Amino acid sequence: MSKGKLFVISGPSGTGKGTICKELLSRSDSMRLSISMTTRGPREGEVHGVHYFFAERDEFISLINEGGFIEYADVYGNFYGTPKKQVEAWLDDGDDVLLEIDVQGAIQVKKNYPDSVLIFVLPPSIKVLRERLEGRGTDSAQVIEKRMGGALGEISLIGEYDYSVVNDNLEEAVEAVEAVIRVEHLKLTGESAEEIAGRYRQEV
Ligand code: ADP
Ligand code: 5GP
Repeated sequence: MSKGKLFVISGPSGTGKGTICKELLSRSDSMRLSISMTTRGPREGEVHGVHYFFAERDEFISLINEGGFIEYADVYGNFYGTPKKQVEAWLDDGDDVLLEIDVQGAIQVKKNYPDSVLIFVLPPSIKVLRERLEGRGTDSAQVIEKRMGGALGEISLIGEYDYSVVNDNLEEAVEAVEAVIRVEHLKLTGESAEEIAGRYRQEV
């Protein structure tokens, strides 16, 4: 069986990454979402093991030292990381995996998994980004300012990514990401080309 593909979704906080990922998961049986570990405290309604694995700093650092993360980064003063074990098991089973992570993490993933696909989700404008962060109602004014302050720096690193999608109309943005996923599955790699040719050779 061929291995699944790793898709990374990044973009400024409030741009709609979580909303898009939720839609993608509801439309596909073979797409999995990695649950990150973080040292950030849970927001109201967030559940351990569903939204994040919430951890103390020393637990997080132990997992770093064991080589247990695909990538990790300090984002706005808290650690966030992608646990390796589950993601690799899903990929080995042939499932695709979505990582909703920040730019620093995405760059590490591309380095360690060169076949991964990096998608950057942009807001229609900075004004709309602020409206979405405020409208979400999950962050204090101070946290919103911190995240707005980081947005331009994140967007300036878009050149590290393979695709960009503007999340103006949600349906169109989800369809654009689905189109990327389809195209990436049609793309030939050394490994997939050999597997396809082998399958046809076996028939004769
Ligand atoms: P992120 O995961 O990037 O931080 P969210 O998915 O939490 O962002 O979205 C931030 C807010 O914007 C949420 O309240 C969400 O419902 C809203 N939102 C997401 N996409 C759209 C869209 N296309 N149009 C209008 N509102 C949106
Ligand atoms: P939030 O606190 O809003 O849930 O997430 C803050 C930022 O951390 C977002 O940009 C989100 O994509 C990023 N993030 C979440 N999980 C991970 C992770 O496992 N690794 C990295 N590098 N960033 C993450």
